[in-house]
Amino acid sequence: MEKIKMTTPLVEMDGDEMTRVLWKIIKEELICPFVDLKTEYYDLGLVSRNETDDKVTFDSAYATQKYGVAVKCATITPNAARMTEYNLKEMWKSPNGTIRAILDGTVFRAPIIVKGIEPCVKNWKKPITIARHAYGDVYKSVEIDVPGAGTAELVFKGTDGTVITETIHKFEGPGVLQGQHNVDESIESFARSCFNYALDIKQTLWFATKDTISKKYDHSFKDIFQEIFDKEYKDKFEEAGIEYFYTLIDDAVARVMKSEGGYIWACKNYDGDVMSDMVSSAFGSLAMMTSVLVSPDGKYEYEAAHGTVQRHYYKYLAGEETSTNSVATIFAWSGALRKRGELDYIPELMEFADKLEAATIKTIEDGKMTKDLALITSLENVTVLNSEDFIKAIRETMEAE
Ligand code: NAP
Ligand code: MG
Repeated sequence: MEKIKMTTPLVEMDGDEMTRVLWKIIKEELICPFVDLKTEYYDLGLVSRNETDDKVTFDSAYATQKYGVAVKCATITPNAARMTEYNLKEMWKSPNGTIRAILDGTVFRAPIIVKGIEPCVKNWKKPITIARHAYGDVYKSVEIDVPGAGTAELVFKGTDGTVITETIHKFEGPGVLQGQHNVDESIESFARSCFNYALDIKQTLWFATKDTISKKYDHSFKDIFQEIFDKEYKDKFEEAGIEYFYTLIDDAVARVMKSEGGYIWACKNYDGDVMSDMVSSAFGSLAMMTSVLVSPDGKYEYEAAHGTVQRHYYKYLAGEETSTNSVATIFAWSGALRKRGELDYIPELMEFADKLEAATIKTIEDGKMTKDLALITSLENVTVLNSEDFIKAIRETMEAE
């Protein structure tokens, strides 16, 4: 069989620990035998980030701006323990944070659905994708631990001399205070990323906040979404047969529980943080969640939602057998290859991505899976495979088709 040719390289961002081990096997067993793989390789492993003073992370993000599509392996976000373990020059920032800031992107997280791994919510039949705004609000707030009686004010001093003052509260005793902000530019990028992604995957988009209580703050989010939608996306949505609607977050939560899935739910920063954990755990497993960062101008970075699976890596280093789930990382590759195929008009590459995903799902549905899934599956008589044999089983399924 002739290998599928590519025209534009994928930006390949290698990573750390167990996922780096899986990365290599996935390429060897599932990609390179079928695709004449073209990538521009960036090693985002912690050793390489430390050696390059993190330049490699920035370069990989710029390359994504240039080429449009990246696939990323999970990476370590350094903490005090990692400083010692890797003898780091500095506590380098989270690569995901750096890349997200450069691409000005929004993260979309969606579960991979297979028969035999049933969501806790019985009526969920299709994936629910959560889009989380990744700037501002409580994550960039300032706080005061109020010591005692006094008046708290919110003051804005414009560079043109405008002064706006609001009394927050007249304290009679100790309390707490918080100042939050967001900027229109970031909310607009968030809205455009959501609308573009909805058109991309042809799914209806919901956006929900608490605008009834927050009449200026949350209401601005609602208005910005609506204005951009009406001006730039209304016709495109109609053509694609999908909808955009705004609803109060309380209503959204109730609707989500009663729905069968199959839509995108856009959330403000905090709501997205909390709701994405709820949705992913209700769908069964973090190892079955994909994640894609989409910029408002249509650049894509695909990855797994989980981390580097450190505990498994230490077992691997000790020569013990591991059974680490590679599904989300495989779907990061298939997602990136499909998008590359779409942008470069290579239908075979898109078909290959479909085949790889179908073979991955079929392997699990045939009862061959890693330990994490074996523990929660409703299928009987399953075979638990080790990390490498699971990937090889997918290759066998693919070659048998
Ligand atoms: P983690 O790597 O997601 O793993 C947490 C636990 O979840 C694992 O110990 C394992 O449970 C289970 N798990 C996660 N993925 C799995 C998989 N593919 N197959 C089987 N089990 C899986 O999170 P963490 O241990 O908190 O973080 C480890 C490192 O990853 C940290 O350095 C963190 O900074 C980094 N991280 C990176 C990203 C990213 O690059 N996007 C995201 C999150 C975390 P058992 O041990 O019980 O089997
Ligand atoms: Mg969270």
